[in-house]
Amino acid sequence: MDNNNHLKEVEGKRVHDHFNNKKAAISAARRIMVPGPVIVGAGPSGLATAACLTEKGVPSLILERANCIASLWQLKTYDRLRLHLPKQFCQLPLMPFPSNFPTYPTKQQFLTYLETYTNHFGLDPVFNTTVVNAEYDHLSRLWRVKTQQGLKQEETVYLCQWLIVATGENAEEVVPYVEGMDCFRGPIFHSSSYKTGELFRDKNVLVVGCGNSGMEVSLDLCNYNARPSLVVRDTVHVLPQEMIGRSTFGLSMCLLKWFPVRLVDQFLLLMSWLMLGDTSQFGLIRPKLGPLELKNVSGKTPVLDVGTLAKIRSGNIKVCRAIKRLTHHAAEFIDGSRENYDAIILATGYKSNVPYWLKDTEMFSEKDGFPRMEFPNGWKGAHGLYAVGFNKRGLLGASIDAGRISEDIEHQWNSEAKKLMAFSRSLPLPPNQDLEFNSMVVN
Ligand SMILES: Cc1cc2nc3c(=O)[nH]c(=O)nc-3n(C[C@H](O)[C@H](O)[C@H](O)COP(=O)(O)OP(=O)(O)OC[C@H]3O[C@@H](n4cnc5c(N)ncnc54)[C@H](O)[C@@H]3O)c2cc1C
Repeated sequence: MDNNNHLKEVEGKRVHDHFNNKKAAISAARRIMVPGPVIVGAGPSGLATAACLTEKGVPSLILERANCIASLWQLKTYDRLRLHLPKQFCQLPLMPFPSNFPTYPTKQQFLTYLETYTNHFGLDPVFNTTVVNAEYDHLSRLWRVKTQQGLKQEETVYLCQWLIVATGENAEEVVPYVEGMDCFRGPIFHSSSYKTGELFRDKNVLVVGCGNSGMEVSLDLCNYNARPSLVVRDTVHVLPQEMIGRSTFGLSMCLLKWFPVRLVDQFLLLMSWLMLGDTSQFGLIRPKLGPLELKNVSGKTPVLDVGTLAKIRSGNIKVCRAIKRLTHHAAEFIDGSRENYDAIILATGYKSNVPYWLKDTEMFSEKDGFPRMEFPNGWKGAHGLYAVGFNKRGLLGASIDAGRISEDIEHQWNSEAKKLMAFSRSLPLPPNQDLEFNSMVVN
């Protein structure tokens, strides 16, 4: 029996069962059949994939928990944020950044670009819709994607042949437990809620975490005359954003075409030493592995310095060891020192939320919510499951995934899905039957 007939039989049987046996009704949830892929997440990765699919004539449906596109950028980032990498490494497929944008576009410019991108490709995500469960049904050979929508949390189940996970590497904030956290009297919040240093003028602020966010938040606090201290628990590579007139990232990419990664790392470290000096003097001890090798092995991104190091050198930003415990107004550190603070900002990063909702442990690891296969093989799983934007290579990596996924689905779509769509439309549904067909994005 071919796939089409099989589907027809199974879904027809379901429809029949539903009428004859109320207990067997799937649930009170609305059910919608989606002819093309369902994409979970309307961040840059989801938008890029939908655009590539649209260009190939494959309709898709984007489900987004927030009320806007690119919610990470719109709702969870600070005002001074610019792209860390030059714009040519951050553009999405099929549409470059406007030529009048600077090399490192501001957050607002990036958002304007994404709005234009969305409109240009006619993308129309379904907002305020959180995917709470997605499971492959071996009987019907369809993904059943359960969502909750709006304040009333109304449930809908989307049925589709392809499921594209685009919920991002940064879906949920990581908030570590620190002893004494409950008794600290000032605010403690994640860097995703930090907008500007304006509120912290003349305040002592402890910033926990020395990744790109922690470093930039500290710099921003300084610019508003706050007194930040930066907790540096681990080793860290800090590199200048530019070297010999080129972006460090661009230069590295170029050198890697010709030289082995260790040699490129040695070059980057030499240049960093010449330009920034010995960072261990300020408590920023470098890891044993070089910056690119470390990124390959662990995914840990080097910090690109945009001025923080100068503030550390001048003493405007203090570097502290790991926190031992918090008290009402102070932090005690493992080296025995103690300091009073008015507020604590946790720049402690993010994690994937895939294990919470995707009932598939084959492709994605339950441990960290990332595909088990390393780049470049982590984008495709079994039964029409795909991942975009999980290769720890930022927006450039997401664009690569989006291209591969859209090509792969295009082949299947051309051979199979049109038949499925024809079948869907010909299914003899009784009036008011609860299986609907999504046609809003069908070309
Ligand atoms: C401060 C900061 C600066 C960065 N700067 C750069 C940079 O300069 N260059 C670069 O290449 N990368 C950068 N990154 C990396 C960043 O991950 C990418 O820029 C980009 O946002 C990744 O896009 P994404 O679509 O994969 O994930 P996201 O942008 O996180 O989008 C995922 C979307 O999925 C939605 N979602 C999550 N769970 C569900 C669910 N269950 N149901 C429905 N919707 C859901 C979210 O609401 C979100 O809108 C930065 C990250 C941060 C935090």
